[in-house]
This record gives sequence, structure tokens and C-alpha cells, in this order.
Amino acid sequence: MKITFSEAQKNRLTELGMKENETRLQFETVKEREMEYKKIEKSAVAKNREKLMSLTESIYQPKLCKLQQDLINCLLEEKFTQVTTPSTITRKFLERMSIEQAHPLYNQVFWLDDRTCLRPMLAPNLYEISQKMMNYCKMPLKIFEIGSCFRKESEGKSHLKEFTMLNLVEWGTPVEDRVERLKELVDSVLKAAHISEYGFENEDSLVYGIGLDVIGNGGLELASTSMGPHPLDSAWRVSSSWVGAGFGLERLLMYREGEEGIHRYSKSISFLDGARLNIK
Ligand code: ATP
Ligand code: MG
Repeated sequence: MKITFSEAQKNRLTELGMKENETRLQFETVKEREMEYKKIEKSAVAKNREKLMSLTESIYQPKLCKLQQDLINCLLEEKFTQVTTPSTITRKFLERMSIEQAHPLYNQVFWLDDRTCLRPMLAPNLYEISQKMMNYCKMPLKIFEIGSCFRKESEGKSHLKEFTMLNLVEWGTPVEDRVERLKELVDSVLKAAHISEYGFENEDSLVYGIGLDVIGNGGLELASTSMGPHPLDSAWRVSSSWVGAGFGLERLLMYREGEEGIHRYSKSISFLDGARLNIK
């Protein structure tokens, strides 16, 4: 009978950054397995240490921060205005997004008290400030925000409880140009993220109605897009046509770096820029 690594050994090796299929080796004897484990573990620890050393001695900026900076630069060049809004929102704002008890997203919301929660998305605040900005600013009005969003998630590998969302919206896009414009904006953002392999799929979103999803090879959702006029618009007292897109930055990194799990590049106290911090 062939012997494989123990579960504890496999866990340790994947924690150190090895792919799951690389830990599926088989051995004739326990002694052979232990020798191989020691060797592989040592080299994985060394690789981890090297990553951390090069981060602190020459790179200085984790990929998540660099990606954020690249995306900001890209959108400023596209003449989008950057905004920053609070991480907490009220129940009223969720209701205006139609996220009430019967809605699947409702159970994913982290409540701070009866009327305040951590935002599961950026859209409510963007609707709110767009409506106010439209009183003063010319069309097309183009804004974006990058910030943390929070959702109680049950699935593991591509979902985080706290993740970084980029949400852009362009108000005043002519109705007949919306699909083409959305694709153009997605292409710019993903080019800035150094991602070239993806496609578009029609999606009926629970919250935003008809839109296009952006899907990577293998089926991972990289972004969701939407367009208006939209049934939710009246709750925010807006009536212009628009296009919008939301990207998860950690998803983009996980995909670009060919990682099996999203946690390695997330906001974390266990990982730093893809390296495990407790490596001994
Ligand atoms: P999924 O179907 O993958 O759970 P979603 O359709 O619920 O995602 P959206 O509300 O469309 O997510 O959010 C826009 C983008 O934000 C997603 O395409 C994805 O890149 C990212 N995202 C959403 N939820 C998470 C999460 N829990 N962790 C990391 N990224 C997320
Ligand atoms: Mg989606």
C-alpha cells in the first residue's frame, strides 16, 4: 500500500504556500515519507522567508496595496473622481437597495446595532453622494470608491468576511452605448490589474437587475456590472442612465497570482503579501 502525507503535514505545506496537488505525493515507507516531508518543508519555509525579506528589503508594498494604487491611477486617468465614504451604513440604506429580511444578502450582514451595519457593498453610499453631486456637477458624472466591504460568508476559498471592493459608476452614459462602455471600463481596469484572460456573462443580479458578470478562466467571478435606468433608482431619487461595476481586489489577485485560496493576499494578521507569518 502506498503512503501519503498525513493531514497535518498537508495542511502545514499548503499553509506554507504549496499547491494542493503538490502535496499528493506517494511513498513506499513512513521513513521515506518523513525524509521527503522534512526536505519539502524546509524549502517551503525558506521560500516564505525569502518572500518576506524581499518585501521588507526591496519591494516595500504588498500586492494588494500596489493593485489598489494601480487601479486608482487608471481611473484618475479615465477622469473618474475618487470618493471615500464610511464603512457603516444604516438599515434605511439597505432597504433602499431592497436588502430586507427575505433577501439572501440580508443574512450576510454584520449588524452593529438595530439600525447600523458594516456595509456589504459600496453602492448605497455611491447612490447617495451621486444624487447630491448631480446638483452641482456636469454629466457625465464619473466617480469611484475603493474600500472594505463585509459579508458573513459560508464558502471558504474565494470568499472573505472583509474584502476590498472597487466600485465605479458613470452617470449619463447614453442608453445605446451602455454595454459597450461597460466592457471598455472593465477592460481598462483589468488591464491595469495585469489580467488579460476573462470573459463576460449575462447575469440577473439579486440586487442590481440585469448586468454582465466578468468571469475568469475556470469560472471564478472577478466582477459584476450593472446599468440603469434601474428599478432601485427611484428610491435614491435619481433618473439618469448609468453604468457601474464592482470588482473584488483580493479576487483579482487570487486569480492573477494563480492561488487556490483568497486568504493569502487578503487583509490579514496571518499572511503578508502571500507569505505565511508564523513560519518558525
Ligand atoms: P459571489 O457570487 O462570488 O459570491 P457576488 O455576486 O455575491 O459574488 P457581488 O455583490 O457581485 O458579489 O460583488 C462584486 C465583486 O466583489 C464580486 O465579483 C467579487 O469579485 C467580489 N466579492 C463579493 N463577495 C466577496 C467576498 N465575500 N470575498 C471576496 N470578494 C468578494
Ligand atoms: Mg456578483
